[in-house]
Amino acid sequence: MNFDIPADVADLVANIHRFMNEHVYTLEGEPESPIAIGAAAFPPAVVEVQKKAKQLGYWAFHLPAEGGGAGIPFLHYAYVNEVLGRSPYGPACMGSQAPDSGNAEILYRWGSSEQKQRWMAPLVAGDVRSCFSMTEPETAGSDPKLLRGSARRDGDHWVINKHAWFSSGAHGAAFAIVMVVTSPDAAPHQRQSMIMVPLDTPGVNIVRGIPVMGENLNHHAEISYEDVRVPLTNMLGPEGSGFLIAQERLGPGRIHHCMRWLGQAQRAFELMCQRAVLREAFGSTLSRKANIQDWIAEARADILAARLMTLYAAHKIDKEGPGGAREEISMIKFFGAKVLHSVIDKAVQIYGAEGVTEDGPLSMMYRHARFARIYDGPDEVHKMVVARRILAEFEKRATAVA
Ligand SMILES: Cc1cc2nc3c(=O)[nH]c(=O)nc-3n(C[C@H](O)[C@H](O)[C@H](O)COP(=O)(O)OP(=O)(O)OC[C@H]3O[C@@H](n4cnc5c(N)ncnc54)[C@H](O)[C@@H]3O)c2cc1C
Repeated sequence: MNFDIPADVADLVANIHRFMNEHVYTLEGEPESPIAIGAAAFPPAVVEVQKKAKQLGYWAFHLPAEGGGAGIPFLHYAYVNEVLGRSPYGPACMGSQAPDSGNAEILYRWGSSEQKQRWMAPLVAGDVRSCFSMTEPETAGSDPKLLRGSARRDGDHWVINKHAWFSSGAHGAAFAIVMVVTSPDAAPHQRQSMIMVPLDTPGVNIVRGIPVMGENLNHHAEISYEDVRVPLTNMLGPEGSGFLIAQERLGPGRIHHCMRWLGQAQRAFELMCQRAVLREAFGSTLSRKANIQDWIAEARADILAARLMTLYAAHKIDKEGPGGAREEISMIKFFGAKVLHSVIDKAVQIYGAEGVTEDGPLSMMYRHARFARIYDGPDEVHKMVVARRILAEFEKRATAVA
C-alpha cells in the first residue's frame, strides 16, 4: 500500500496550493452581501480568478474530459479538492462548487445529448449556476420517498407543483433540477423523477433566502413552484428514476464535501497551532498547557483518520463505482462531518472571543461545519445505512445457523 500522493497528481496539488495563495485567499475578508434574484452567476472578482484557472486547466475536476472537466480519477480529485476546500472561494474559483458539481455529474450521466448541450455545457463552463430542489419543509428530507411535490402531464408539458426549501444557490441561478412525484402509484422508490426547470419560468417564485445561524446571504432559498409548465423533454433520465438519480448525485457529491472538509479542518488546525504558540496566559503560551496539547494531538489524529477514510472511499469509487462504495461513502460522511466540527470547535476555543468574531474565518467555518452534519443526509441516516448493511450479514448468518 502506497500512502504517498501519486507522482502524477503531486505537481498539480503543489500548483493549486500556489494558485490558492496567489489568487484565492485574497478574496476572503471582504464582507459578503446577500445575492439578489437574477444576480450574475459569480461576482466579478471570482470571474477574474476563474479565467486564470481555466487557462491553466484547473477546472471542473469532478468531470471527465468529454464532459468539459479536467478528467482526473476520483482519487486524484480527493487530493485536489482537499486544497480547494481550504477556502470557501476555492471550489467556485475552479469550477467545482456545489450544487453545480453534483448537478453537472447527473447531467453527464443521465442527460440526452440535447440536454447536455443546453444545460450541462454552460454549467460546466461557469457561464451559469444551478440549484437542486429536493427538500420540502413539510416532509422529512431524510426520507425522499415521502416527497409531496408533483408533476403531471398536460399534453407535451409537465405541470409542476412543489414547495421546496434549502435549494442552495437558487439566487442568481439559471435553472433548478427539481425532484417531484410523477408516478404516485408506482413502488415507493420509483415514484419520483428529476425535471429541469429554468428559474424564469412563470410560476417559479423564490419566496425568500432562508437566514441560517445569523447568516442572511440568500445562500439557501425557499421556492414555490406553482403550476410551472415545462416541456416533457425537460425530464432527466427515464420517468421514475428520480430516487436512483438522487442517490447517484448524493453519493459522489457527499464525498466531494468530505474532501473539502479535510482542507477546512486542516486550515483550522493550522490556525489553532499558530495561535497556541503565540498567545500567553498564566505564565506560559497556550501551547505549553497540557489540555491544549491534548486537543492538538487529538485533532491531528482525527484529521488523519478522516483523510485515510476519504481516500479509501475515493479509491473504492474509482474501482467499483459509487454503488460499490455505498458503505464507505456513508461512513466518511458522518465521520468527516464530526471531525470537521470538532477540530473547528477546538480552534474557536483556542482563539477565545476572537474565534467567534467575523474578523477571521473561524466563525463562518464553524457555522458551515454544523450544517455538514445535516445536509446530504444527517449523521443518523448514514449510521443507519452502515449499520443495516453490517447487520444484514449477521442476520443472514443467524438464519442459516437456525
Ligand atoms: C446548509 C444546507 C444546505 C442544503 N442544501 C440543499 C439543497 O441544495 N437542495 C436540497 O434539496 N436540500 C438541501 N438541504 C436540505 C438537506 O438535504 C436536508 O436538511 C436533509 O436531507 C435532512 O432533511 P430535513 O431537514 O427535512 O430533516 P428530517 O428528515 O426531518 O430529519 C430531522 C432529524 O431527524 C433525525 N433522523 C432522520 N432520520 C433518522 C433515522 N433514520 N434515524 C434516527 N434519526 C433520524 C436526524 O437527526 C435528522 O437531523 C440543505 C440543508 C442544509 C442544512
